[in-house]
Amino acid sequence: MRRRRPGGRRPVRGLQLDVGHPTGAPHLGWLDAAAVTACGGLVVLLAARLTGLTALDALLLLPAALAGYLLADLASGLVHWFFDRFLDEAAPVIGPALVRPFREHHRDPRAMTRHGVLELTGNSCLGLLPLLAAAVWLGPGAGPAAAVAYGTLLSFALAVVATNVAHAWAHAATVPAPVAWLQRRRLILPPDAHAAHHGPAADRAYCVTTGWANALTDGLGVFRRLERALLRLGVPPALDA
Ligand SMILES: [Zn+2]
Ligand SMILES: [Zn+2]
Repeated sequence: MRRRRPGGRRPVRGLQLDVGHPTGAPHLGWLDAAAVTACGGLVVLLAARLTGLTALDALLLLPAALAGYLLADLASGLVHWFFDRFLDEAAPVIGPALVRPFREHHRDPRAMTRHGVLELTGNSCLGLLPLLAAAVWLGPGAGPAAAVAYGTLLSFALAVVATNVAHAWAHAATVPAPVAWLQRRRLILPPDAHAAHHGPAADRAYCVTTGWANALTDGLGVFRRLERALLRLGVPPALDA
């Protein structure tokens, strides 16, 4: 049975990785490249701190990595919800850099399948830089605390960087066999689960790394409650969403 893929009706062969930007907005490729490079360097520095772990401490890495993966999905939902529902594309600096990609994604869900890898990962790396830099500066040196802290953080960071790629794959008409395998096993965002976000309501299924956290956030109405709270506090909703 053909699985439903959210967005576009015309088949597109695979995930096309060109660097064009369909909105015509200036795309700062050099900034994406710098952010990805800096993020990669910090990840290597943090991973190096895991080399001295004892075998017992190393056992903690698996649950820590799982926690980081789940947290990344939750974080993807939080960021996605906020930029879907608040701020406008016309806002200075943040509008074209952060708001427009989310709005564009609803106008043209296939657009991100035409973005290059740097464009898909650059913003995520930029957002991670303060967290990774703080961990390099302040993080624990060794022992079980290091295993839990770095295991969780590295898994979180790598999953956050991979989020837009997984999201783009969920919209691609065809994907490589290993990616389809991961989607079928729900280890990355499956297209059929993500289709709920591109339905008429578009107010659910915001989590786009694996989609695991959607059961929690949609089931408990987490983002609906947060939205009501922000509106009560006087935060204006997006006018162009
Ligand atoms: Zn959205
Ligand atoms: Zn989508």
